[in-house]
Amino acid sequence: MKVIVVGSSHGGYEAVRGMLLENPDAEIQWYERGNFISFLSCGMELYLEGTVKDVNTVAYETVDNAEKDGVHVFVQQEIASIDEKNKSVHVKNLADGSERDEGYDKLILAIGATPRRLDVPGKDLENLYAMRGRDWAIKLKQKMVDPDLKHVFVIGSGYIGIEAAEAFAKAGKEVTIVDHNPRLLGNYLDSEFTEKLTQEFKENGVNFVGSVNVAEFVGKDGKVSGVKTDQGTFDAELVVETAGVIPNTSLVDGLLELDERGRIKIDEHQETSVKDIYAVGDATKVPYAPTGELSSIALASNARRQGRTAAANAAGRELKMTAVSGSSALSVFNYHFASTGVKQDTQEKCGVKGAESVLIEDWAVPPFVSEEAGNAKVYFKITFDPTDGRILGGQIMSTRDVTANINTISFAIQQHATVYDLAYADFFFQPGFDRPWNIMNEAAQAAVRKIN
Ligand code: FAD
Repeated sequence: MKVIVVGSSHGGYEAVRGMLLENPDAEIQWYERGNFISFLSCGMELYLEGTVKDVNTVAYETVDNAEKDGVHVFVQQEIASIDEKNKSVHVKNLADGSERDEGYDKLILAIGATPRRLDVPGKDLENLYAMRGRDWAIKLKQKMVDPDLKHVFVIGSGYIGIEAAEAFAKAGKEVTIVDHNPRLLGNYLDSEFTEKLTQEFKENGVNFVGSVNVAEFVGKDGKVSGVKTDQGTFDAELVVETAGVIPNTSLVDGLLELDERGRIKIDEHQETSVKDIYAVGDATKVPYAPTGELSSIALASNARRQGRTAAANAAGRELKMTAVSGSSALSVFNYHFASTGVKQDTQEKCGVKGAESVLIEDWAVPPFVSEEAGNAKVYFKITFDPTDGRILGGQIMSTRDVTANINTISFAIQQHATVYDLAYADFFFQPGFDRPWNIMNEAAQAAVRKIN
């Protein structure tokens, strides 16, 4: 069997690894149009802040390693078109200009998404950057040490914008971050959490302005010098645009069924509308565990699960894509936070009505352990359906890293567990790590009292 995998980021990497596990005898061809395979944008902040020194190590895989495992890797080679009737792809070698056709038995598309750029006057000025992939990582890193750069303006306060703002603030730049939403991280956390994070940003020199519409990039000598918005004009010698992504699906427009936003429609086996063509990652949607509906959640964790699912099915073993809840975690200066599933403030965006929540504030470990010894306040919120107690979401934040608790909530959502199940669930106790009632027990017990 010959399998062609297109795209070398999270989805493509997992599809290749999955195929090696499922069918070691398959002939695997792996295509990437960029000049580097498997760069992980998830590791970009670690590189920008200097935790990881070499940009080329921010990857799962090298060409040599993949080839040692028998995979044929083609870098700087683009899949330009697909002939589904003859089961072949047309390949353009971007390095030497040559072209050829390659047949396939199974085709797995992990073609991802590209950053959405603002279509406003001044959009062609220099120093308007995006933050995705190795090339942007290198360009951003150069800016961090540019002494002429004083003001950075970040558009979009999702995870990526937050990472950009923090990295540039730590590099000593004056940073403003804006969003359409009134709150930063508004899609990830409720206001009890975002108020604390906005304050944390302020104390570290990052100015957040909410409910902003960008009107124009202002320039001087062809370079950006400021940003005009409906809330005033801001100085900016660098703009980082992190206002969402657009599925990179022009390759399959007219061939595969796409949704209204251009994402590839897939079934529960990751198969597209054309037999033997599978699609995974940010170019598709995922099953959302709290509601069972399909949802667009651009995460590496999702792309990996989809990649493995596609590989299994392409190899002939039936596997359904697991339902996911958008579980994610991040740090903002001293705080670590994580969230999964439905939030109280934005439940309707997730297709939910009438959900209720309980917020608990307590110590991470028993209060006899001092803050100097590592104790810290933990804020945990659980969101549930009051009609049957079903757990729909969770959010956690602390200056101590307690983010892994959210994985338990994600699993609870996936398993359709209720606050009744969680209230007395068995969790370890050791005063160096936790309390006799973990904060999730405590919150679920409060939720049960609220329902009753
Ligand atoms: P993409 O990463 O979009 O990659 C697609 C690849 O396909 C590209 O390399 C492209 O060049 C190639 N390609 C496209 N078309 C062709 C073609 N025709 N021929 C050949 N090659 C082609 N997610 C998390 O879960 N956790 C995190 O901490 C996290 N942090 C992030 C931080 C940043 C700064 C960014 C930008 C994203 C982060 N994400 C995180 C999201 C995660 O990176 C994406 O969800 C993930 O990259 C999606 O993977 P993908 O395989 O769908 O495609």
